[in-house]
Amino acid sequence: MPAVSLTCRVCDTPYPLEAIGTCSRCFGPLDPVYDRAELARTVTREQIEAGPRSIWRYAGLLPVAPPAEQRLAPGLTPLVSAPRLAAALGVGELLIKLDTANPTHSFKDRVVAVAAAKAQELGSRRSPARRPGTWPTPTRHAQPPKASRRRSSFRPTSSRRS
Ligand SMILES: [Zn+2]
Repeated sequence: MPAVSLTCRVCDTPYPLEAIGTCSRCFGPLDPVYDRAELARTVTREQIEAGPRSIWRYAGLLPVAPPAEQRLAPGLTPLVSAPRLAAALGVGELLIKLDTANPTHSFKDRVVAVAAAKAQELGSRRSPARRPGTWPTPTRHAQPPKASRRRSSFRPTSSRRS
């Protein structure tokens, strides 16, 4: 597992690599931080190509080891040519990733597979899918609304009695 720590996607607060998923300062999602020099030394194109025909061929780049049982493993979905869309956009060739070939027909299957494997690695006997709202956002570009970035506190006011 090449991840060395966690960092908040919103406020960049660093965290140790522990079983936490949200920032205690802003409630933003935490992303793993990788040792890119270590990855460059240890992960090769040949290793990836020799792996299983699923997301687990990229295990050296993921923050979790592949599960022992890889049932319904997502990933490695086909690229489909879209010549009419390419012509409409004025590009020579356009390929579209067919993520409906994943087990539940969703691109989210990849993040679910990694999260479930991590939960299993941490000894959880419950699926993380049973905790709504705990999934990380699928892309690094997704950001919570500005209002959720602000810290707020609640202070009860004293009641007035007449
Ligand atoms: Zn934060």
